[in-house]
Amino acid sequence: MRLELGLAIALSLSFVVVFVPNTVNADESCCWRAAVGAVAITPEEPLWMGGYAARDEPADGKIHDLFAKVLVVENLNGHRLVLVTTDLLGITKELRTAVETQVRPYGVERKSLLLNASHTHCGPELRSERILRLGIDARYAALSRKYVRWVAQRIAILVGKVVDQIEPARLFYSHARAGFAMNRRLPTQKGFINSPNPDGSTDHQVPVLRMETASGDTKAILFGYACHATTLSFQQLCGDYPGFAQQFVQEAHPGCIAMFMNGCSGDQNPYPRRTLDLAKQHGRALANGVETALLTKTQTELRGPLQVAFKNVTLRFAEPPSRKDLEQQMQTGNKYMRIHARGLLDELDAHGRIKTEFDRFPLQVARFGDDLILVGICGEAVVDYSLRCKQELSKKGKIAVWTAGYCNDVFGYLPSERILQEGGYEAGDAMRYTTFPGRFDTSVESRIMDGIHQLVSGLSRK
Ligand SMILES: [Zn+2]
Repeated sequence: MRLELGLAIALSLSFVVVFVPNTVNADESCCWRAAVGAVAITPEEPLWMGGYAARDEPADGKIHDLFAKVLVVENLNGHRLVLVTTDLLGITKELRTAVETQVRPYGVERKSLLLNASHTHCGPELRSERILRLGIDARYAALSRKYVRWVAQRIAILVGKVVDQIEPARLFYSHARAGFAMNRRLPTQKGFINSPNPDGSTDHQVPVLRMETASGDTKAILFGYACHATTLSFQQLCGDYPGFAQQFVQEAHPGCIAMFMNGCSGDQNPYPRRTLDLAKQHGRALANGVETALLTKTQTELRGPLQVAFKNVTLRFAEPPSRKDLEQQMQTGNKYMRIHARGLLDELDAHGRIKTEFDRFPLQVARFGDDLILVGICGEAVVDYSLRCKQELSKKGKIAVWTAGYCNDVFGYLPSERILQEGGYEAGDAMRYTTFPGRFDTSVESRIMDGIHQLVSGLSRK
């Protein structure tokens, strides 16, 4: 019953655009215009689900709806940030490109558009080519392609509506903490295994951006956390802990839209896990973190100017496997290693070589004056990236730094140099589920950090 009530509330939020009364004096309220909206993106057909390669049947119903949410903030200098959060496993390049193209008529430039996925493992599989590669019924690949087109269109329409509604607003930043994320790389005599590591690195910060209207009503609460959304692994659609956290924050702030942005959680898991009750408990823990951030006396009112920047950097892969290596790999008992080897052998046959570069790796930065720097990294960035960005960009704690992973193109794992040296799943073993040749070379972290520093210093000079 309580679940049905929650569902009704969630459904009623479908395609809500918040109208902000135009009564504030923009000069007095500093410098922002903003609006927020939400749309349900729950698949209307039984789609194949992502998250776990071993799934053997499509989705069987839902726990609650999945949403895409849009927050548009515009500085009086005309610079704009369009933040799109989604209850999805990842943002594919196709989805990002389709949204980017369709929002151009609304005056949204590429550098202003940031898409983030909550990384729920109980969402639809958006990679139709992966469905085919895994040998799943091709019907589900077609449904997946159709779903991506539908989601892109719904997000773009929502962006257009929200852009149209921007009105004077105030923005505040604060943060608190939540403790359920745990490092999942445990060193053993056989190497690093996927298991709770109480001594591994974490980033327990819960950053919160609050948007308030002229009348002082909170209309948007954007919050982040660095933790895989893998409490659940069943066959029902569900936002996992981020879905529940957003629901709980909205229940505590009627009329407000809560948005979740995943952090650098490539090597972070929620523990314990595997029951719906635990997903709700983690969601409650995160919602409590958000409420704590909202009541701290450390809230900073964000001033301008807003500056945004986007660039693609090139990453290099380590030496690709030879044809002989791949032919040997075809003889292993591991189905996924065989599928990976087959794909690379096909690439060798077709092009005479295997790709050595990831040449369009998107990086994005938004700067709110001297108060907050928001960094968007693509892929499943490990926690080292957010810790390093905080250390190197915060000017000894004078500027808040919020780093999101899972932005714009969630291709697979993004290890740090340390993790590459340690080895294990996030270092390269997980690449067997992609079409990439294997692990990145050891320059990966410096190429990304150099790119982020170039973007931030480019903004500073303006
Ligand atoms: Zn993941």
